[in-house]
Amino acid sequence: MRCVVANWKMHLASDEARAFCEDLLGRFTSEGGTEVGIAPPYTLLHLVSALVRPKGIQVFGQNGHAEAKGAFTGEISMPQLRDAGCSGVLLGHSERRQFFGETDAALAKKVKAAWQWDLLPLLCIGESLAQRDAGQTLEVLGQQLSILAETGPGPLWVAYEPVWAIGTGRRAEAAQVREAHAFIRAELQRHLAGTDYQVPILYGGSVTPESFPELLDIPEVAGGLVGGASLDPRKFAELVRQAG
Ligand code: PEP
Repeated sequence: MRCVVANWKMHLASDEARAFCEDLLGRFTSEGGTEVGIAPPYTLLHLVSALVRPKGIQVFGQNGHAEAKGAFTGEISMPQLRDAGCSGVLLGHSERRQFFGETDAALAKKVKAAWQWDLLPLLCIGESLAQRDAGQTLEVLGQQLSILAETGPGPLWVAYEPVWAIGTGRRAEAAQVREAHAFIRAELQRHLAGTDYQVPILYGGSVTPESFPELLDIPEVAGGLVGGASLDPRKFAELVRQAG
């Protein structure tokens, strides 16, 4: 199964989101069997869900709190995401880890909360440049995936996103992606042994229509989590077409 997910981060107002969705849907065919998702900012969830879900496009939250409700000003809960039309939630994006202090311990709770509310977690993992330069990439990925020992098995998508490749225009080399994805697959097999869960592993980090076909040729690359290029409906539709 191939998957392409747009991460809009903190971009777009409602008129821009509507124009994006209408443009995308004009170019979109769901015949290829690729799972397509959009993760808009919270204020756009209802609007985007109403426009794209009837066409089979999934909507993801960009984060979700582990508690279902309570005094957590500025946060959003998993049932609120469901209520707004989400079927999944991005968890552990490097910007959440970097700028908002998201820890693996917190993520384990969030993954469990997502399952409890029937949301598909798209768990983002990846090493910083300093960690790669220190030869710690696989150790970091193994540590980030070790939350599965605590959560136990469940439905999941994973995105490998080297932090140094996000929003920088600097895509990881094919050999680096191949090594990381093979390692992630082996770790997932270990954590999910004896279960039937099929976990697609997406690549994220400066994906464009120019770079995506080569990435899709790499074993274990099941698609992309796309930031910058996902703000252009023409580019995003082309990425979906390439995933085919
Ligand atoms: C992302 O936000 O997950 C991402 C990969 O961004 P970009 O495509 O802009 O590097």
